[in-house]
This record gives sequence, C-alpha cells and structure tokens, in this order.
Amino acid sequence: MSDAKRYELFIDGAWRPGGKGEIPVISPATERAFSSVASASSRDLDDALAAAERSRPAWAAMSARERGVILISAAKILAKRIDTAAKALSAEQGKTIAEATGEYRRALEMLEWNGAHAEELCASLPMGADRVLVPEPLGVVAAFTPWNYPAVLNARKLGAALAAGCPVILKGAEETPSASVFVIAALSEAGIPAGVVNLVFGEPADISKHLLKSPIVRTLSFTGSTAVGKQLAKLAAENLQRCVLELGGHCPVIVCEDADLETAAKAIADYKFECAGQSCNAPSRILVARPVYHQFVSRMANLAKAIRIGAPDDPATEMGPMANGRRIEALQRLTEDAVERGARLEIGGRRLDRPGFYWPPTILTDVPSGSAILREEPFGPILTISPFDSIEEAIEEANDTDYGLASYVFTSSAETKRVLASGLSAGAVSVNFLKGVAADAPHSGIKQSGYGYEGGEQGVRSFQNLKLVNGLNSLEE
Ligand code: NAD
Repeated sequence: MSDAKRYELFIDGAWRPGGKGEIPVISPATERAFSSVASASSRDLDDALAAAERSRPAWAAMSARERGVILISAAKILAKRIDTAAKALSAEQGKTIAEATGEYRRALEMLEWNGAHAEELCASLPMGADRVLVPEPLGVVAAFTPWNYPAVLNARKLGAALAAGCPVILKGAEETPSASVFVIAALSEAGIPAGVVNLVFGEPADISKHLLKSPIVRTLSFTGSTAVGKQLAKLAAENLQRCVLELGGHCPVIVCEDADLETAAKAIADYKFECAGQSCNAPSRILVARPVYHQFVSRMANLAKAIRIGAPDDPATEMGPMANGRRIEALQRLTEDAVERGARLEIGGRRLDRPGFYWPPTILTDVPSGSAILREEPFGPILTISPFDSIEEAIEEANDTDYGLASYVFTSSAETKRVLASGLSAGAVSVNFLKGVAADAPHSGIKQSGYGYEGGEQGVRSFQNLKLVNGLNSLEE
C-alpha cells in the first residue's frame, strides 16, 4: 500500500504519484492539513482507461464464482486492518472511531454479499423452454464516491461492478482518501488482476469530463449532490453511458399519535446525528401529530442537547465535527434564513467557538413555508419539527419536496402503516426503525434523488446487459 500519509493513485496494478502533484487533506477537527493525496493528470487518466479496457475481456471471462472468491478474500484482508482503517477515516472525515468502525463493518458486508452472490447473479435466466436471458458485463465503470460514507460506498459500487464482471476506475473523495486506498489495496492483495481496479484522485470536474468523454467507459456510478449528478448525466449522454445516480435527500419522518414517542425520538436522534447528519438518508423534516407535538419536541431537544460533541478520536465523543467548512457555511445560511423568516430556534444554531468545523445539533420549529431549509438538503445535524392534524396532511407535507430518497414512519396501527407506505413518494419507506441500507437491499431514489439501483441483486444488474437469446430449441442444420 502507499505511504500512510501520502495517498497515491493505483493504476494498472501499481501505486504511483499523480502527474499533477498533491492535494492537501484537511483535518476537520483542527482545520489543518495533515496528509496529502495525489492528483491525477490527463496522462494518468488515459493510463487508467487503457488498463481497464485491456483487463476487461479476461475479467469478464473469469467465472463469476472466482470473481466472488476474490471479493470475499478482499473482505477478509480488510477485516484484519479495520482498526487502522477506521482510525484514518475518522481523522479525515470527522466521524467518531466507533462510527468509522461501524462503517467499515458494513463495507465488509457489501464485499462479502456481492462475492457470495456473484455466481447466482451472473447465471442465465431461463424464460420458458426456448428463451434465455444471459447476463453480460456492460464494460468499464467510472465510479465516483463522496466523503460522507466513503468506505461503504466504495465497497458497494466496487463489489457489485466487480461481481458483474466489469473493471472499475474509481475516483475516490479527495477529502477522505484512506477509505479508497484501504479498499483498493485489499482487492489488489486478494488477487484482482492488474487493470481491473484503478484508483484516481484529483480535480473532480476534470476527471469526470475526461473519463466520460471516453467511449471505453460504459457505465457511470455516482453518489453526491443532485447538481453534480445532473452535470455528469449530461456528460454521459454524449456516449450513452448508463447511469446510476445516488443523489441527495430531504427525508421526512412522520410520528403518529399512537407511536411510542420514546422509541421514536431515540431512534431519530441516533440515526440523525450519526456522521453529524451528513447522510443522504438522514431524517431532516419531522412531522408530528399535533396532540403529542410539544411532548415530542421537548424529548427530541433533550436527547439532542445531551449528545457529547468532541474530537473524533476521543472515546467519549458521540458526534464529531462537520467534514468541511462548506457544510458550516451551508448550515449557517439555512439557519439564519429560517430564523429571519420567523422560525423558532429550539437548540443549537451557531458554530461552536473552537478550532474545527463543529456545529451542534440544531432544532427549528414553526418554520415558515418559504424557508430554504424546507427545500434544500441540509446535510448536517439540523432538524425541523412541525405538527400535523391528519394523515393526509402529513403525507402531503412529507411529499412536498423535490427529493424522494427515504422516508420514515412511527405508528402502532397496521392501517396507518399501510396508508403511509403507499402514500409516501420515496425510494424506501421504513416503519418504526431507522438504519443504514443493508447489503442485500436495493437503494434508489426517485425525483431529484436520482435513478438506478445500488445494492442487492438490482445493484449487480445495474452493471449487466441482460441479453435475450431466442430460439434455443430451433432446428439445427
Ligand atoms: P459537491 O456536490 O461539490 O461534492 C459531492 C461529491 O461529488 C464530492 O465527493 C466531490 O468530489 C464530487 N464532485 C463534485 N463535483 C464533481 C464533478 N464535476 N465530477 C465528479 N465528481 C464531483 O458538494 P460537497 O460540498 O462536497 O457536498 C455537499 C453536498 O453534496 C451535500 O449538500 C449533499 O447534497 C451532497 N452529497 C450527497 C451525498 C450522498 O450520499 N448522496 C454524499 C456527499 C455529498
């Protein structure tokens, strides 16, 4: 593996420095540079494209079972390094070491699941006696992962694409390079042939333009903001590259009068403030039945106030800093806008007076409808809470967003569960629980949250062409 503090590119089976020098990696806890990552030149990207294309036929021809074995052994190698990898991720991202360890455990599950199911998901699918669907790998994938959950997202994208038989050029997040380096190193040491996985970092817009301009790339897999996802989809249109776009979210939670309020508030607080709220699936708009509204707001505020904020490597810390200064600016702007319009600030709302990108849990109530926080993805530890008078009103308000990623419901009524599960416009509806997406489940958004599936069977299918073969029983000459 490359030097722990100077992360390199991985191209055609070898680590190398970048042709465009290095980019500093900033600690969110101190705001100081503490390591660096190589920046790829056009030449580096051309080498990655050529290596991926060269490796493609043999990787596609290898049995899916063998590809699966490599994924599983990569998970075993990574598991042995989990403590070091989690420590590095925590220092770069700002999440606590416990959170980073939990993230790596999920990353291992993604590699293992795709490895274990590779053979089954690459097998032909009979369609009656005379026809069959033959899954074939689509070809080279350009994958782009962000800084919030880099280990899980690298493992989910790489696991599925590699299981399907596609080589990958991964652009890892420059803010959190170690998560890409650890995952790629494990795959390489597990025996993946040279060229099948390549890792680049650098200027994101230049890299995406360069890679998507190449007809070698057949699929784009991106996780990040809706604005960037749209730019990449436009670039991909030129070569008709298939797209999997996992974009933003602004996820509602509906807490009904018959819900167990204690359980609901605790589950929301645990999931919301994980990774300092920087998750596309994190709840951000809570709608509470009016009779229990005040009770819920005070429970939520008490739980949020009790969260211990501190350095990511302090075992007592429950929530670390935001990942970067851009988030602080956005949270400040969203809070000020809401308060100026008349919202009530229940707790938080101001950057902490200490070095590092620290922003406390923040709760806003009575938020007027024109406020930016109700439209823009907040991507931080901010919640709005508002009351509703009927289930119909709750559904309308929950769906009143451009996004459609995840939504959550707390109720003890079977009928209300059914009505909400069918009425909410989202890629997923979860009843009485909030958790990250499991390795066997598809993850997808609707509306401005993107399209295409990642995870589970559908995640592997995203990288396959299902070739229809007709007439298998036709007469042979
Ligand atoms: P951003 O949109 O600039 O960057 C998000 C990610 O996309 C980063 O990893 C970045 O390197 C990459 N990126 C940016 N421009 C790119 C380009 N032209 N080509 C390829 N990759 C590019 O925003 P940010 O300030 O880093 O993050 C803030 C916003 O991003 C949040 O508000 C949130 O909406 C979104 N985001 C979403 C997710 C998610 O899980 N869906 C993850 C991270 C960020």
